[in-house]
Amino acid sequence: MKQVTDYFGCLVFNDKVMKSKLSSDVYKKLKKTINDGKELDISVANSVAQAMKDWAIENGATHYTHWFQPMTGSTAEKHDSFISPEGNGEIIMEFKGKELIKGEPDASSFPSGGLRATCEARGYTAWDPTSYAFIKDKCLCIPTAFCSYGGEALDKKTPLLRSMQALNKQALRILKLFGQDNVTTVKTTVGPEQEYFLIDKAMYEKRKDLIYTGRTLFGAMAPKGQELDDHYFGSIKTRVQEFMNDLNEELWKLGILAKTEHNEVAPGQHELAPIFATTNIAADHNQITMEMMQRIAKKHNLVCLLHEKPFKGVNGSGKHNNWSMSTNTGINLLEPGDTPAENAQFLLFLVSVIKAVDEYQDLLRISVASASNDFRLGANEAPPAIISIFLGSELQAVIDSIETGKPLKTGGKTFLKIGADVLPPLPKDTTDRNRTSPFAFTGNKFEFRALGSSDSISCCNIMLNTAVSESLKQFADKLEKAKDFNLELHELIKETIIKHKRIIFNGNGYDDSWVKEAEKRGLLNLKSTPEALPYYLHDKNIKLFTSHEIYTLNEINARYEIGQEHYSKIVNIEALTCLDMLNKDYLPAISKYTKNLAETVQLKNSLGINNTYEFVTLNKISTDLSKAFELKMDLEKTLEGAKKIEDCTKLSMYYREKVLPIMEDVREIIDGIELNVDSKDWPVPSYGDLLYSVK
Ligand code: ADP
Ligand code: MG
Repeated sequence: MKQVTDYFGCLVFNDKVMKSKLSSDVYKKLKKTINDGKELDISVANSVAQAMKDWAIENGATHYTHWFQPMTGSTAEKHDSFISPEGNGEIIMEFKGKELIKGEPDASSFPSGGLRATCEARGYTAWDPTSYAFIKDKCLCIPTAFCSYGGEALDKKTPLLRSMQALNKQALRILKLFGQDNVTTVKTTVGPEQEYFLIDKAMYEKRKDLIYTGRTLFGAMAPKGQELDDHYFGSIKTRVQEFMNDLNEELWKLGILAKTEHNEVAPGQHELAPIFATTNIAADHNQITMEMMQRIAKKHNLVCLLHEKPFKGVNGSGKHNNWSMSTNTGINLLEPGDTPAENAQFLLFLVSVIKAVDEYQDLLRISVASASNDFRLGANEAPPAIISIFLGSELQAVIDSIETGKPLKTGGKTFLKIGADVLPPLPKDTTDRNRTSPFAFTGNKFEFRALGSSDSISCCNIMLNTAVSESLKQFADKLEKAKDFNLELHELIKETIIKHKRIIFNGNGYDDSWVKEAEKRGLLNLKSTPEALPYYLHDKNIKLFTSHEIYTLNEINARYEIGQEHYSKIVNIEALTCLDMLNKDYLPAISKYTKNLAETVQLKNSLGINNTYEFVTLNKISTDLSKAFELKMDLEKTLEGAKKIEDCTKLSMYYREKVLPIMEDVREIIDGIELNVDSKDWPVPSYGDLLYSVK
């Protein structure tokens, strides 16, 4: 039997392959680029390209592509073969350094938010050598960033890399103050836990709503949902296990550290968690993971749904972004450590995050805002739309003691002075004990839990890295001038706690009282995407992004517009699908059913039997059918109204406030009728068929 250790990473041009395929000089220069971001000169690039091509061909590849992440949320690739004519009817396989470093795809059809006029259609892609090239479907995929000719970011990787650089710069300033002179780089690390649904392909194909929108727009709840909690961590069905085995194998071949798999809360729902990696690599790997999940599901006659809320009435799917910062010397900066000095450094990084999350709640909220995630956040199945931090009682006690100046006594030890005393041990949260908090400290990392399952993790990490960079910058500006470092450090940490403690909430985030309490504290509660997105353009956020060189003003405007337009497009597609299903499936099927009933009523009446089951049902369904028809006409008219709105901000709000509610109303009526119609006469598979389709 083949062993995982034998094939792990076999489709990746990783360090081991580089070492064996490159001359030691080229290898050293490439490593310098990877580790320190030094530019690669063209002769080195040529040697790397040649080695990469030879290795790729040995492993069955015929094509290469610059693999990038445009602002559509998925990945993009255009395959070029290695073939090059020799003039005598023969070919050689060729790949040059310049093709490795830079590509020029015609990219006029990717969203640019006005950054690239279509007459300037070409953008360019640039190699990210810190994320290894890999082979997928006989194609050598080179992870790249995607920019316009003017250098503006048109993708999710470019700003992510910029934000990692910003954090590196500021964190190094802080570490220098703590005497950590041997640290040369700080990188953020992420382990994204990924939820998804699996349903039977044959069932999926009968649901236009799933095909066009990824979620069910109609469907009465099955008699059994998730109330028995019998799916969570339950034994995995054979067909699902076979899918997971295949998925793991493909991910491992691609060097992705797939680690944990289990059933989730809802029937048909599952989760996969990898071991954490450097953020840009984790982001690439998460994109590949989502793609592989969908592809491999198909091989098993399954469909993997990554939509945040495929089914009403059962939990939707999210993603947990476990985040920390670590040094090239292997120190996790959110690990408390054992000595007073390590503890002091930990506390400063900890409060830098607290300050960042408080000051940039709006940006974190935006980073998880989408039409689909709007159905989860605040619906008591995922954290509320209010951003807050959970610290846990032990760390809270430490924070309280710093704030009040009262010593903390635990286990015979006393903690009072930062830099002099040792912190009491903080247990690592392995039990997920506060699932209701959007942003929880879990012992040596923070877990941002508001992400939607289909989100790219880039966006939230851009926000988080940038906001923390700003905290660290302000701290470094102050402490670099300190006369008495320990004293001023203590004061700074204390001040930061006092100023930003409103963002800390250790209670139940699902409780209604939290909404009121959060409002009293002045925290934001941005319930929907159209409400959240305008915060992109607030002065403080523009200042943050431009001063750390993450986004230019143009780039921010572009991202704002793309976000709003995307939202409107999604709801529009949903509304059109809703109308299509009403017109072609539901209304005709229900009408036919009432005809059957009416004929029976007539027959029974002629026999002198009145007030029958058929008569009562016919009346009820006919009344509801008329209501559904009226709502359908209303929806058509409302969609016409949308065409007159040009402003993207007004349009998304219109979809949210005018279009979505009608879709909800008509759904309620159709779902009600579904409960009273012979299942043989119902035009689409039921929730029971979908949720329990995988035997
Ligand atoms: P849980 O009990 O939630 O499963 P784990 O410790 O297994 O807790 O972590 C969940 C995720 O967090 C995994 O993907 C793991 O690799 C990741 N993780 C652990 N440590 C770090 C870290 N320092 N930085 C980023 N992610 C981390
Ligand atoms: Mg988790």
